[in-house]
Amino acid sequence: MVATRKLTPFEEVNLFFDQAAESLGLSDGHREMLRRPWRELHVQVPVRMDDGHIEVFTGYRVQHNGARGPYKGGIRYHPEADVDEVRALASLMTWKTALMNLPFGGAKGGVQVDPGELSVAELNRLTRRYTLNIEHLLAPNRDIPAPDLGTNAQTMAWMMDAYGQLHGHSPACVTGKPVEIGGSLGRDSATGRGVAYLINQTARDMNMNPDGARIVIQGFGNVGSWTARLLQEYGCQVIGVSGVRGGVYNSKGLDIPALLEHQRESGAVPGFAGGEDITNEELLELECEVLVPAAIGNVLTAANAPKLRTKLVVEAANHPATPEADDILAERGIQVMPDILVNAGGVIVSYFEWTQNLQEFRWEESRVNEELLKIMDRGYQDVREMAASQSITHRQAAFRIGVERVARAVELRGFV
Ligand code: NAD
Repeated sequence: MVATRKLTPFEEVNLFFDQAAESLGLSDGHREMLRRPWRELHVQVPVRMDDGHIEVFTGYRVQHNGARGPYKGGIRYHPEADVDEVRALASLMTWKTALMNLPFGGAKGGVQVDPGELSVAELNRLTRRYTLNIEHLLAPNRDIPAPDLGTNAQTMAWMMDAYGQLHGHSPACVTGKPVEIGGSLGRDSATGRGVAYLINQTARDMNMNPDGARIVIQGFGNVGSWTARLLQEYGCQVIGVSGVRGGVYNSKGLDIPALLEHQRESGAVPGFAGGEDITNEELLELECEVLVPAAIGNVLTAANAPKLRTKLVVEAANHPATPEADDILAERGIQVMPDILVNAGGVIVSYFEWTQNLQEFRWEESRVNEELLKIMDRGYQDVREMAASQSITHRQAAFRIGVERVARAVELRGFV
């Protein structure tokens, strides 16, 4: 899988798709239909800033494939959220929801903005305008956004409110909402819970004892911090953690609740008294049993893959490894658990939230967590069995299962 020029994120994801399509013997026409997004919307998002001037941001909603159900996928606020990246993430959602056998298709949205630069009032106005501009695509039975990088439960509350002003109260139009207004118990921790569960299972199946295993996590937002907290329940030692401004390291294990408190107070990970500061580059190359990228994409590359000193990479972030890095890690015998399996906990509990909203019923948190782990485990076992029986990587197995299910849905529905 060697590229002669730098591929875009969507092209990179499609290398994995193409491998799966090839192994399934799909025709060229089917491949084209499954590869390309069904619909893309580009919008401008004008916002009156607090000082009175107007800024115009760019936003997208990409609906990649809806053969298996309503489109589902998060909204990202990030300065580099361009349409190609949103397409890549939308397609990953298609393969992820199919792999986990959820009744959804795949979509993603994004606004090119640094949310840290905007006030709460500006973010509220930006979210409302973006929602109004993509509103005709959304509905509980059409397309259901959720939070992603740079957005959170508050963002979803604003989206629900803006949508509701036009359509009446519709809590099932977005997931990841605050619990007080229709969010599911357990949604906030869901992705991290699934990641921690998967690390524990994979480590055991690799004959590694999770108890005392050294874990390094890049990203200390929703996914990274919940993963770190929950891993302690399995007895793991989180020895390194980073955020956008750098990381901290302690060979004896970091005190995660204290680090969270430090981040809350100072706004960043570095400067924590319970460890020494390190850069993001140094963090990725720390010696450990499990490395968990849980921040942004493309952080594992041909440049640093030869230098990683881990046994297992668990992809909590979406698309953290380039195809070149993937090849190098495979050659080096470093096992990689792929994003579309690892971080599916978020969309699984989003599915529970959506069903609870449609039924106007609320589950206990224990039920949410239990059902979440059941689905995570089924996905994990499917991937593991396919990888073992076909002698392929876990990523190849995950894509093959996801692509096959979507191809089957397209065929059954008689699209062409
Ligand atoms: P978040 O915004 O809550 O946290 C992101 C973290 O990454 C922060 O700690 C931030 O400081 C750090 N970060 C940002 N840029 C960085 C950089 N250049 N280098 C190092 N660290 C950097 O986001 P999140 O919801 O935790 O999402 C993290 C990843 O997980 C994303 O790739 C997202 O697509 C994926 N994901 C999230 C969910 C979910 O439920 N939130 C579900 C599936 C996948």
